[in-house]
Amino acid sequence: MSIEVYIDGDFYPKEEAKISVFDHGLLYGDGVFEGTRAYNGRIFEFDAHIDRLYDSAKVLALTISLNKEEMKEAHLQTLRRNELHDAYIRTVVTRGAGDLGLDPKKCPQSSVIIIADRIILYPPEFYEKGLRLVTVPTRRNLAEAVNPMIKSLNYLNNVLAKMEANLAGVPEAIMLNQEGYVAECTGDNIFIVKGDNLITPATAYGALRGITRNVTMELAAELGLTVREALLTRYDLYVADECFLTGTAAEIIPVVEIDGRKIASGTPGVYTHRLEKRFRQKAQEEGAPIYGD
Ligand code: PMP
Repeated sequence: MSIEVYIDGDFYPKEEAKISVFDHGLLYGDGVFEGTRAYNGRIFEFDAHIDRLYDSAKVLALTISLNKEEMKEAHLQTLRRNELHDAYIRTVVTRGAGDLGLDPKKCPQSSVIIIADRIILYPPEFYEKGLRLVTVPTRRNLAEAVNPMIKSLNYLNNVLAKMEANLAGVPEAIMLNQEGYVAECTGDNIFIVKGDNLITPATAYGALRGITRNVTMELAAELGLTVREALLTRYDLYVADECFLTGTAAEIIPVVEIDGRKIASGTPGVYTHRLEKRFRQKAQEEGAPIYGD
């Protein structure tokens, strides 16, 4: 069965789900997006994702035609229509069709697109053996230019870094900010464990306020770790006891080598494993029911 895509209140088969070539989302990357997951018939951290979508839109002064409740209902409808219980949901709000100039004033109506599809998971060996990463030359966007806290359709900064990871033959890249401090990866936040501290760069240093990041920080506190946001250098990564990434698609995934340096013994860490387990459990049990309780 082909999936059906929500566009501005109607559903279209995947092959016919199209928007205008004059949409500024395409012409200028002018728009915002979200990536959300459904597990076991429930949408995980639904409100947090919806809130972040509206926050990103607010920063771009982008008016969304639906209010938050209508937006949530549109998501539920999309999942029900596609009979999905476990899914990856991509929500896109574009500035809408305008003329060929970049002025958003020329775009009278934004567009909402919701795509719910089966989730494509990372290979299991990534979780069992852990990832090898490199830091890449492309720096994370300057907050005063395009703030990395905005989940915008302009992901070229991340795409360039991903190409550098591909060149190095590794699945993810660590991006530094303009000052050379660790910011995040192209599509994931980064954490280290040192002693009984769990440390991640503050979002002010050039990271998205990841929703998996927030959940992980709460779970880590429950496990007795002291959770801190701090300035991290590559030195801190190399000498960490453990390192892992978080993201909606990746969940929690161990890192075992950075720039050719093994992290501790070079195998996934104990806290990382515990957090992965707790996270999976929570994701299976909690969330907004799609089909009623
Ligand atoms: N950083 C970036 C740049 C991202 O695009 C994402 C989302 N894929 C994340 C971090 C992780 O955020 P979340 O846990 O909310 O998916």
